[in-house]
Amino acid sequence: MPYSRTHTEIDLLAIKHNAEAIKRHTGNQLIAVVKADAYGHGAVPVAETLCSVADMFAVATVEEGIKLRQADIRKPILILFSCLPMQVEEIVEFSLTPTIGDREFATALNEVASETKPIKVHVNVNTGMNRSGVCWKEALQFLNKLKTLPRLEVEGIFTHLATADEVDKSFVSVQLNRLASILAHKDGKMVHVANSAATLAVPESHFDAVRPGLSLYGIYPAAEKPIPLKPALTWKARIGWIGSISEGEGVSYGLTYKAPYQTRVAMVQIGYGDGYPRSLSGSGEVLISGMRRPIVGRVCMDVSVVQLEPSDEVSIGDEVVLIGKQGNEEITVDEIAQCSGTIPYEILTQIGPRVKRTFRPVTHNNEH
Ligand SMILES: *Cc1c(COP(=O)(O)O)cnc(C)c1O
Repeated sequence: MPYSRTHTEIDLLAIKHNAEAIKRHTGNQLIAVVKADAYGHGAVPVAETLCSVADMFAVATVEEGIKLRQADIRKPILILFSCLPMQVEEIVEFSLTPTIGDREFATALNEVASETKPIKVHVNVNTGMNRSGVCWKEALQFLNKLKTLPRLEVEGIFTHLATADEVDKSFVSVQLNRLASILAHKDGKMVHVANSAATLAVPESHFDAVRPGLSLYGIYPAAEKPIPLKPALTWKARIGWIGSISEGEGVSYGLTYKAPYQTRVAMVQIGYGDGYPRSLSGSGEVLISGMRRPIVGRVCMDVSVVQLEPSDEVSIGDEVVLIGKQGNEEITVDEIAQCSGTIPYEILTQIGPRVKRTFRPVTHNNEH
């Protein structure tokens, strides 16, 4: 492989393994969520890999859906959020499956859809997340009104859970109860509710299909780990400089770290300009030669500094693991998220454009 300052290695077979494990666990259809570039793993290669496992893909935006179509992904692609009336032409042109959450958009879509082949849509019912969808109290009436738009075919009905990753599942029950009144009239439509947390821990939310994202990438959204998942992303950088500093010397902006004794330090070519959280300043760890070494001082835009031990045999250019395994040690996305006060979702989706993405296996499965 040519030199790269920092790169991620995406294990596509791990993602396939996770998707298959989830399908076995639920026994239902799988809507694989590949929004935000498949949580930083690369939407096109991930979708290519999952074409034989997923029944449908889900993205957040029309642009994300078009990108998959242009890469020749032919499975249905659901757009999880309501679109704007000005986007209806593109939705029809690229055969995307939009979410309907209001009457105005539905009317605009009906106007451009084909007379001979109705466009499939999913109706988002707001049961308590309160960020999108038709209010559950009005959902039946809304579904009836949609029947007057002949070029729309309601294929699915879904809702999104606000607290499935919490120990207390009482609000999950509230949301499922609110949905229940509508499901009495579902007449054959596909119902889907479960994000990763509910897919793993709330069997009564599985309905006809589950809609996981994070767990496909091998990360658990909560403490429950009912099935073994494999993390798919490794993030590496390189040592760019090694120095020796005297007792009392500081490191990096603000000199927030002071060497307690004569210390060797190494600069790692990774910074917040790559999406490596600045909040790991003075608290995160990396793996060097299979050992954990602490980040000292502030994470800069392009580089960070770690403290070495006297016994460390390291050279400029050596690989450093930021996320993933090296030797017998492992740094998980969860650890990085906890250490920087956020969630794994944010760590993964913040990995920046300077970080080259590589895939294993290199040849993609092109079976759609
Ligand atoms: C992102 C998203 C999901 C997937 O959530 P995970 O927690 O990553 O499994 C499912 N449904 C909707 C509507 C979403 O926005």
